[in-house]
Amino acid sequence: RESSGATVEHDPVTTAGGRHVEVAANVGTPREAVAAAERGADGVGLFRTEFLFLDRETPPNEDEQYEALSEVCETFAGSRVVVRTLDIGGDKPIPYVDSDPGDNPFLGVRGVRFAPGERPELFEEHVRAILRAAAGPAQLAVMFPLVSTVTELDALLDEVSAIAAELDGEGVDYAVPELGAMVETPASVFLAHEFADRLDFLSIGTNDLTQYVMAAARDDDRVASLHDPLHPPVLRAIARTVEAAHEGDAWVGMCGEMAGDPALTELLVGLGLDELSMSAVTVPDVKAGVQGIDDESAAALAEAALRAETREDVRALID
Ligand code: PEP
Ligand code: MG
Repeated sequence: RESSGATVEHDPVTTAGGRHVEVAANVGTPREAVAAAERGADGVGLFRTEFLFLDRETPPNEDEQYEALSEVCETFAGSRVVVRTLDIGGDKPIPYVDSDPGDNPFLGVRGVRFAPGERPELFEEHVRAILRAAAGPAQLAVMFPLVSTVTELDALLDEVSAIAAELDGEGVDYAVPELGAMVETPASVFLAHEFADRLDFLSIGTNDLTQYVMAAARDDDRVASLHDPLHPPVLRAIARTVEAAHEGDAWVGMCGEMAGDPALTELLVGLGLDELSMSAVTVPDVKAGVQGIDDESAAALAEAALRAETREDVRALID
């Protein structure tokens, strides 16, 4: 496959039983997408669109966003590119658009609570750019960050339909992408069935999910031992999400840091994840780890981990 002047290969990997597990990359810029392709990523599992808003003083307009997204879609022509809608707030403040972090940024206005929540006009331009890029060469998918109610999700889906109708009316080229939600709040774990019934896919954000399940901030070293996805409650939340997704005929990925730890690949495959998305550097190791995994041992490891009572017990199983 040719892209941006570089020849890239991406051989799909499968378990010994022939189950394909997509190994994708998390990227924030078109340049990072090229680096990910060069490392053999099967696609982009998380495009962090807020990076398009960094290092500037005003938001990028619709065309600028469309150009950047299109570049990523060129690089991954024919492959899946999952674009996350703006995830501003919490650990990702963009001061010129979000001037008030509130007393408790992680529990306040962030993700979809910020856009469309507080800034519907920003969201509209953003989604217009995404739907236009979806008409390009990649299989574009879009997902929403920090959704925690069905009402929020239904409103987001209505908004996407309305924007598609608007583009249609204007005669602008667009496509309706696959639609998904991040599962990164305990609320979304308990609503995973309802979400999966409405969506094509779910993507588990373990950085935030761990923070909210364990009530331990992701950026506070003093509670780092609690902010560990190997704690059994986090593993059980993941297992519950995977099961609900599959019951609703949705595919389910993981795009938190956990997905990029090669020591955890067998456990994650055993838990039933269809896709793992990570920083590009770990793609080759995780791909090598997935290839030829014994499905029964992986399932047995996951079952044992789900019965474990402490993270130390889980760690011992993995070691
Ligand atoms: C996550 O929360 O796990 C995630 C992938 O999103 P971010 O790290 O950008 O919040
Ligand atoms: Mg997150």
